[in-house]
Amino acid sequence: MGKLVRTISQDGGILCCAMDSTDIAYRSEQIHRTSAVVTAGLGRLLTAASMMGCMLKGEDNSVTLRIQADGPAGNLIAVSDSRGNVRGCVDNPVVELELNQFGKLDVSGAVGKNGMLYVVKDLGLKEPYVGQVPLVSGEIAEDITNYFAVSEQIPTVCGLGVLVNPNLTVQAAGGFLVQLLPGASEETIARLEENVRSLEPVSKMLANGSTPQQIAFRVLDGFAPQVLDEFNTEYRCDCSRARVERALLSMGRGELEDMAQEREVTQVECHFCEKVYSFTSKDLRELAKN
Ligand SMILES: [Zn+2]
Repeated sequence: MGKLVRTISQDGGILCCAMDSTDIAYRSEQIHRTSAVVTAGLGRLLTAASMMGCMLKGEDNSVTLRIQADGPAGNLIAVSDSRGNVRGCVDNPVVELELNQFGKLDVSGAVGKNGMLYVVKDLGLKEPYVGQVPLVSGEIAEDITNYFAVSEQIPTVCGLGVLVNPNLTVQAAGGFLVQLLPGASEETIARLEENVRSLEPVSKMLANGSTPQQIAFRVLDGFAPQVLDEFNTEYRCDCSRARVERALLSMGRGELEDMAQEREVTQVECHFCEKVYSFTSKDLRELAKN
């Protein structure tokens, strides 16, 4: 189980969300069999989506983060519900790159530096909310920070990290998202910046046993933080046979007839959890009648 905590400064002016997404990133690697650098990239995006999901107001709301850029990994997608349960996928799970100049996994090399971050919020309205910003670095945390500044006009700092073991499993993953409500003083901003600057990488803190609450309280050090709420989060796909049928139907009846003609059994794999749904020719023809 992942753990996400939301905290607030005593004066109510600063919100800080922090999470341990180790289990989520671990599961994502197990499903998609990603190489280390893609594990880190997708793990970071899943973590950001989860924290943004928990900010949604409505129970049935969801948020989708999609990065479309010029790196070899192709598109990265992460979808979260309003309880921080996430799922994700990537076009090319295996990308091998040298470590970057800091000796770290070169996430921006895999994701690309030129491209867009799309944020789609399904708030239960007729049309979803769609925000989009050009990538600033492809390292993802900075891109999320930039998204909030540009698209939602909320001063934000985001930190994300994924530590990958030599055997390619995930050792630790997590992140924090701190946001200033309007009217923050210069002093508050300076103190907060200092707190964030002095922070170790979040994945390292988690690997050393820090809890999300301890991380959030360090970010809000000096602001008498309190816990707002906590969520148990997990990698969760809500695919079902009915959903796959709807997706098939959206391809059109002619296409379904063709598929039924071509093979006895058509298998459809879910991009997010790789569960396989089988449809016989008869199933497809039945579906096409709808
Ligand atoms: Zn699925």
